Formats: sequence, structure tokens, C-alpha cells
Amino acid sequence: MKPIWCPGCGDFAVLSSLYKALSELNLPPEDVVCVSGIGCSGRTPEFLSTYGLHVVHGRVLPHALGVRLANPKLTVLGVGGDGDAFAIGAGHFPHAARRNPDVCYIVMDNEVYGLTKGQTSPTSKADFKTKSTPYGSSEPAINPIAMAIVHDATFVARGFSAQPQELTKLIVDGIQHKGFAFLQIMSPCVTFFDTYAAWKEIVHPLPEDWDASDKAKALNLALTEEVPHLGVFYRTERPTFEERATWASEKAMATQKGGLDGLIAEYA
Ligand code: SF4
Ligand code: MG
Repeated sequence: MKPIWCPGCGDFAVLSSLYKALSELNLPPEDVVCVSGIGCSGRTPEFLSTYGLHVVHGRVLPHALGVRLANPKLTVLGVGGDGDAFAIGAGHFPHAARRNPDVCYIVMDNEVYGLTKGQTSPTSKADFKTKSTPYGSSEPAINPIAMAIVHDATFVARGFSAQPQELTKLIVDGIQHKGFAFLQIMSPCVTFFDTYAAWKEIVHPLPEDWDASDKAKALNLALTEEVPHLGVFYRTERPTFEERATWASEKAMATQKGGLDGLIAEYA
């Protein structure tokens, strides 16, 4: 299928970087699963020749985690927008982050609801005027980078649709990272909130000597930055959810006489 986004939508750049990243990593399409939620960006799996799941609104992460548990050989991508990730799906984010499944989660953040024609979203700035908040939003925006760091995501980065080379590199790094990689991608909605020019003016790369292993420093920057920084804020390594789950089930099976059949027989 050909993408049916509005001409100029930031999601095109994310898709193109995703094509480049997957081909650079030389991953066979049949070994990749892209799970998406509801929203304009949720259409992404339809435009990839990998396996795909376009799931219930806000439920990208539990599905992605389920795919990884069922077949840890697969490369699993999660994609969605700011509404899917941080409104209806927000309850899943902290748990996916702390569980650390080997999933690369790409959130195309345009600070607005695009698919439903331009309402205020969880990442819209305070005072944002839309048809859902005609007098300006009274709520401050949530901070996805700080959230990801606080909840122990092991790879936390921000990219921008207008910087496709850097974006491709971030996606490659996010996929290669062993654990939960969260990428907030500033991806303008040219139809309902065109931020391309404004964001081009204000984005900054992280300093060249940025130490991405310093969690406190990364969190401090995420909480205090006046302009959006691009790059990897934080990365660390710890066992993935799949490794721990496999270890636990192997341990349980080792102590269970007769394996799974024996366990079932106990209840028969
Ligand atoms: Fe992209 Fe906005 Fe159009 Fe959706 S409505 S396809 S986010 S430009
Ligand atoms: Mg959105």
C-alpha cells in the first residue's frame, strides 16, 4: 500500500528513515514485526513489507511485549502518536519501560490529534487553542523524555522528521539496543499544526561530549531544557523482560516433576 498521509506530513520522513534503518541493518522482512496503535502514524505497518499488527487504541506496548515473549528471535518495533502513547495508552508506558522488553518504540509526536482533525493532545503546550480547547488548553504538556527516564527505559532519545540522516541513525541505534528503546520523534502535522519552521529554529543537538550514561543529568536536562535537544539522552544495559521471563519459567520447570504435563496432572 502507498502511504495516504497528507502531503508533507512528518510521518513520511519517519517511514523513509525506517526503510533506511531496516535495510542498513539488513533484517529479513519476515523477521520484523511492526506493531502500531490508532492515529495517523498507526498506519505505518501497512506501508512496510514486514509483518504488522495495527492494534486497539493505546495498546501498542502490551502487544509488542507479547510478540517478543512468543518469539524472542523477532525484531519488534512499536509505533504510534502522542495521543496513542500518552493519553489512552499512557498506563502501559511506565510498565513497558521498567520491564525492559527488547522493543524499539517510536512515538511520532506532533503535539496534536491529527487523525481526528486537530484537537489538543497530551503533548500540546499549555494555552494551545484547538477546537477542543477554544480558549486555550489549561493543562501543561507531559514530558515524554523525562517520563521514559524516570520509569527506567534503557534507551531514551529524541529525533526530528526534518533531520532524516540523524533520525535513521537513531532508529538503527534504537533497534540495535538490547532492551526498551524509546524514541520521541518530533513529526509535524502539516494540516492541523504545522511546526516545521518553528521547530527547525529551536532544535539543538545534544552537546558532542554528552555523557548518555548519566541518568541524573539526563533527567535534569529533560526537565529544564528550554529548547528541544536531539540525540540520545540516556542509555544503559540491564536484562530484558524476555530473558528474565525465560529464566523464571526454566527455573519453575526444573523444580516441577514431570514438567508441564506433571503440573497439569496435579490439577486433573
Ligand atoms: Fe500527517 Fe496531520 Fe495529515 Fe495526519 S492529519 S496525515 S498527522 S499531516
Ligand atoms: Mg498526534
